[in-house]
Order: sequence, then C-alpha cells, then structure tokens
Amino acid sequence: MYAVTNPATGELIEQIENATEEEVGAAIGRVHRGYDSWRRRTVADRAKIVSRAAELFAERAGELAAIMTLEMGKRINEGRGEIGIVVDIFNYYADNGPDLLADEPMTIKGGEAVITKGPIGPLLGVMPWNFPIYQVARFVAPNLVLGNTILLKHASICPRSAVAIESVLRDAGVPDDVYVNTFASSSQIPAILADPRIQGVSLTGSEQAGISVAAEAGRNLKKTVLELGGSDPLIVLDTDDLDETVKATATARMRNCGQSCNAPKRMIVLADLYDEFVDRLTKRVADFYLPGDPADPETKLPPLASIAAADEVAGQVEKAVEQGATLRTGGRRVGPGAYLEATVLTDVTPEMDAYYEEIFGPVVIVFRAETEEQAIAIANDSPFGLGASVFGTDRERSSRVARQIEAGMVYLNSAGGSQADLPFGGIKRSGMGRELGPAGIEEFMNKKSIRL
Ligand code: NAP
Repeated sequence: MYAVTNPATGELIEQIENATEEEVGAAIGRVHRGYDSWRRRTVADRAKIVSRAAELFAERAGELAAIMTLEMGKRINEGRGEIGIVVDIFNYYADNGPDLLADEPMTIKGGEAVITKGPIGPLLGVMPWNFPIYQVARFVAPNLVLGNTILLKHASICPRSAVAIESVLRDAGVPDDVYVNTFASSSQIPAILADPRIQGVSLTGSEQAGISVAAEAGRNLKKTVLELGGSDPLIVLDTDDLDETVKATATARMRNCGQSCNAPKRMIVLADLYDEFVDRLTKRVADFYLPGDPADPETKLPPLASIAAADEVAGQVEKAVEQGATLRTGGRRVGPGAYLEATVLTDVTPEMDAYYEEIFGPVVIVFRAETEEQAIAIANDSPFGLGASVFGTDRERSSRVARQIEAGMVYLNSAGGSQADLPFGGIKRSGMGRELGPAGIEEFMNKKSIRL
C-alpha cells in the first residue's frame, strides 16, 4: 500500500493500492515499446525535452516542495533547495549530453575504430523518500538524454512526489511510454527484474533493499547501480575558527533532519580540540535545532519522515546509551508527530552497535583521535564508504588525509554536498556505480566498439 501520512502530525491523508501484476506487466510493456522510437531520436532532440523539464521543475518548485513537506516532513525551504539542484541536474545533462555522447575515434593496432555511446534499453529505478525528487533526477536525467526508457518505483510514503515528477516529465514532452511511474510493491521487484525486457536497475536506498535487488539482478544478469547507506566521517584536524567549524558540521549533519546518505555522521576530532568542540557542538545542537512545523520557514528541526523512522532512531540512541555511550543532549521522542530531539553522543566504542551502524536521523556522534593516523583509522573502521570530509587549515595536509580515506567522495572544509557536475557514489557497503557528472551517464551506456 502507498500512503501519504503527514509526519508532523501522524495524520493519514491518502492511501493508494499497490499496482496489480497486470498493471505492472502493462507498464513494462509500455517502456519496452517506447524504447524503439526514443532511442532513434537525436540526442539534441532528447536533450531539448530534458531542458524543458528543468524549466518546469523550476516553475513548480513551490508546489513540489509543499508535496515533500507533507509526505516526508522536509523543511519547506530545504524542499525548494532540493528543486534547485534538480534543475541543475536536468540542465547539466541537457547541456552536456551531446558532448558526453559523441563518438570517440580511436587509433588501434593495425587500424582505426570508433566507440559509439548508446542506450541499453528499458531500466527500472527504485527510489527512496529522503530526497524524493533529487534522487529520481540523478537517475532519470542522464538516462533520458542517453536514450534509455524508465519504469520508476518510488518509496511507498511518497506517491504524490512520484506522480508530480511524472507529470513534469510528461508536460515537458517525455512520451508516456518513455517514463512510467508504477505503484508496484517491493515484493514485485523480483518479477520486474526477471522480465527480459528490463535491462538494468538503479536503486537508492538501504543496504537491505540493495542486497535484495542486487541478488535478483544478479540472478537475471542485469546491470545494477546501488546508492546505499553511509556513516560518513568528518575529520577535524585543526581550525582557525572553531565556531564556524562547529556550525558547518552541525548544519551538514542536521540537514534534512539527519536523513541524508552522505551527511557527516561521525565527527572525528583531534585531541587538542576535542573537549571544546564537543561543548560548543552540544550547545549549538541543543539551542538551535528546536522542533517545529516543517511548513514554517523559520523551523530548524522538522519531524523525521515517519513515526516508524523516528522510533527506530530513538531506539538506536537508547541502545547506545544502554551500552555505555554518553548522551550529551537530546535523545527523546517528541510527539505527536515523528519528532526526535537533536542529539549528541560521545564515548561510542567499537563494542556498541552505534559504532558501525548508520543512524538515519538528527544524531551526531563525536570521536576523539590522538593523532592524524588514528583519525584516519577511525574514519576507515566502518562497513560503509560513501563520503567523507576533512576540515583543516593546511590544504596539503587535508589532501593527504583525504587520499587515505576509504570513500567514494571526500570534501575539504565542507560536508554532505552534492552538485550536478561532480560524480557521486560509494564503495564498500555504500554501493556500486556513480551518479552525476560525466560518470553518471555511463552506467547504463552501451559503449560499442566499431572496428573500421
Ligand atoms: P529503503 O527502505 O531501502 O527504500 C528505498 C526503496 O527501496 C523504496 O522504494 C522501497 O520501497 C524499496 N525497497 C525496500 N525494500 C526493498 C526490497 N527488499 N526489494 C526491492 N525494493 C525494496 O530505504 P529508505 O529508508 O527509503 O532510504 C534510506 C536509506 O537510503 C538510507 O540507508 C540512506 O543512506 C540511503 N540513501 C542512499 C543514497 C546514496 O546516494 N547512496 C541516497 C539516499 C539515501 P518501499 O518504500 O515500498 O518499501
């Protein structure tokens, strides 16, 4: 069942039945039929439609942000910010698609060859609720320009976002057999992946969903991109403005109520700064991030996306404290909606669950490192490898540390960012493949060698 439930109040607003098997089959049939004509269009033609989609996303930013606020509790201003980057992504692939897809001539032993860059066919997208429109954009914009067609299964708490995206694309000129939203349930995903008409799948979501989808895709030999969880480290080597560093780290952690895959979740601070950092961070988190209505632009801490999500994160905090962590501030559920106080934990050790698991909510963990080497070791002591950040005044030293971190992306003196032209993705249990930038259009591309 798909449902819209306002996480600020717990009120159930709408329910939508899952698609039937027949409906899912018909949706696959549509994107399969649409592929033949879509791939034959010129890149410039497809790019023009994608560019028009960027304009429509910009025009509808207010209403799209309001949908996200209602469905998953995103602060209204953050919703508008999310649409800003969606517009950038659509524009980036519209503007750069023709160059990124140009033939690549090669001189090879004994002659010449050319690499052509074309689509592979209908794809399945399985998307999460935390950035309901941005996550879809990362997958859809490059693949539409490339010439693939798309069947999209969105998170079951975001049906209105799913429908709104489909209507933007339709109004921009994407044919109704090129992008199709389906209200399939996750239990119908194996059948979709087994269908020979579907050529690949991109999933953004939890590790568990990634494992299921990767297993089914593997069984059916389908190309897979997985953008999964993270527990990104943020190392503070030194600073000439501790308040600014504390503010930047708290802002990055609390963005989207702590529900960002690449938010810094583990702050690792060198010993000489640690006590002062923890004191100031605790004060900042306790004083600034007060719960409020996500529709009010002044609100700093919105609800989590659902009551279940808030209960789960509160349970993780409680367990950490039971296992010996120190609760510096927060930790309590606030009702009636899906609120959890902004929280700071310290003294988390490898014996505790919180050390290795992802905490997907407004919870900061701070670690103390005696040396740069120990900071790197703590950063890498994680099953995840999505992003990381290094804060410091010496660029050479920060770069040296960045190179030693096991992650798909490292940011110096900033955290948790994403932009259209910079590849995004992880290693280890954070997934495989890349989205955004030039790499993002290559995942479901047939790089065909033609020997001349
Ligand atoms: P989720 O529960 O895994 O859901 C993501 C999507 O997968 C939803 O559409 C969900 O459908 C579907 N799904 C769930 N279980 C499935 C299964 N067994 N088989 C097939 N599909 C399944 O994740 P979430 O809670 O929405 O998102 C939070 C997670 O996503 C966090 O771990 C976060 O770090 C990660 N994330 C990663 C990135 C990245 O770029 N690396 C970006 C954003 C989020 P239903 O809603 O119907 O269950």
